[in-house]
Amino acid sequence: MEAQLYYGGRGHPGIHARIFAVDNPATNEVIGNAVLADPDDVSLAVDAASQAFPQWSRSSFRDRSHVLLAIYQAITDHREELARLLTQEEGKSLAESDAEIRYGARFFEYYAAQVFQSYGHMIFPPMNSHTGWTAKVPVGVAVLITPWNYPFAMICRKMAPALAAGCTVVVKPAEQTPLIAWRFFSLLHTLALQPGVINLVTGDPEVVGPALIQDKRVRKISFTGSTAVGRRILSNAAKNITSVSLELGGNAPFIVFDDANIDDAIAGIMACKFRNAGQICVAANRIYVQRSIAPKVIRQLVKAATGLVVGNGMAPNTQIGPLINQDAIDKVITHLHDAEDKGAQVEIGGLRRPGPGYFFEPTIVTGVNEGMLLVREETFGPVAPLSVFDTEEDAFQTANNTPYGLSAYVYTTNLGRAMRASQLLEFGLIGINDPIPSRVEAPIGGWKESGLGREGGDQGIEEFLETKYVSMRF
Ligand code: NAD
Repeated sequence: MEAQLYYGGRGHPGIHARIFAVDNPATNEVIGNAVLADPDDVSLAVDAASQAFPQWSRSSFRDRSHVLLAIYQAITDHREELARLLTQEEGKSLAESDAEIRYGARFFEYYAAQVFQSYGHMIFPPMNSHTGWTAKVPVGVAVLITPWNYPFAMICRKMAPALAAGCTVVVKPAEQTPLIAWRFFSLLHTLALQPGVINLVTGDPEVVGPALIQDKRVRKISFTGSTAVGRRILSNAAKNITSVSLELGGNAPFIVFDDANIDDAIAGIMACKFRNAGQICVAANRIYVQRSIAPKVIRQLVKAATGLVVGNGMAPNTQIGPLINQDAIDKVITHLHDAEDKGAQVEIGGLRRPGPGYFFEPTIVTGVNEGMLLVREETFGPVAPLSVFDTEEDAFQTANNTPYGLSAYVYTTNLGRAMRASQLLEFGLIGINDPIPSRVEAPIGGWKESGLGREGGDQGIEEFLETKYVSMRF
């Protein structure tokens, strides 16, 4: 596939027509090329978005809603083809790719309805000579920067509320996954939207990122990615006081109490840890098991992980695809060596699979402690590190002892304990007996160094709106 940039309603090869290759992480074969945009390309994309803004921001709710529904339908009609490309470019299994495409589409369906919920307030001060009101207005040109791990859904989770709010957008996908973004844009092209409403730039993030962030016409940056890059974006956005939303890394605890349904908890760990080979911001990164049930949980987990089928995501029975690249493999190995040096035991796995592709075996590690990289940082791989705890108080304290605050999971059948978990855990997203709590209708976002703002639900659209207050004397 030869991807292009997209702005002003059509594809462009880039001013200097420079390209970079995109690999399939399961085979290491080149599957396409994308454009290395120049700062002047970025400026042209922002020109297009800012020229389109006045008309799009004044379009009727009904028109915007119809556009969003048309996008939902276009994705749904091409679901299978998009899922295949996603698997080839990112590596996840076809079943997971299909789930990601459907999840992405649903943001357009959901925000097609949310468009109509744009209510202001009337304000009546205690005097009879003034009245006032607030209105919610689109913030302006929005830049949407997305990661490689959910390269389709993360575009949708930002683009749908941005368009619903009346913003025009410039999307910048990750350099590992520009092809699915281009294929999506070429589908959107067939819908003949107003030129400049949606725009796409790809390339070297150190060139494209600063060019987007320093452009004064950009009034919103919505970023999903690592905490390290998010911190730099926030600091660079300070120059123009640009509004920033950040969906950053996590370090999710997964706590299993001795009153939990153990079969359910094992199924939860498998879903929460091994989906997308563990490359998920909300993946269980550290698993805490109450002492009396630890031997049983370890035994059952080792059995379940032994049965996982690792392979090319295009094969129908594959459950775990490759990691994204060599850096991802290196990070997993560094974390495992650090844990072993500090006394942890690898129960199963622990090795890279030989041959082409970045495959790593599903791995269970026990005897993990709080000094290990495995529990201090996001491992972003198929590694489940287990430690043991004694009391509820210890479990919640240890879980909160991290600079991250994206998601946390608790398995218990004790209602009081579930309620205490919901109150005491310092995370933006808490799954109680629920390993996959993300929903289109619910707000997702992190506390502390996991981010600022929310995506999804009715809060998702707020990130793209400004409040205007009007006072009138009479
Ligand atoms: P990353 O931070 O390396 O890259 C994310 C995006 O930022 C990419 O598009 C990249 O090209 C771009 N980027 C890099 N440098 C930039 C710069 N200087 N200026 C502007 N843009 C720049 O992250 P990644 O490796 O693609 O994704 C994995 C990370 O994303 C993990 O930490 C994961 O937890 C996080 N993530 C978070 C959520 C969430 O909802 N909180 C969802 C998915 C992924």
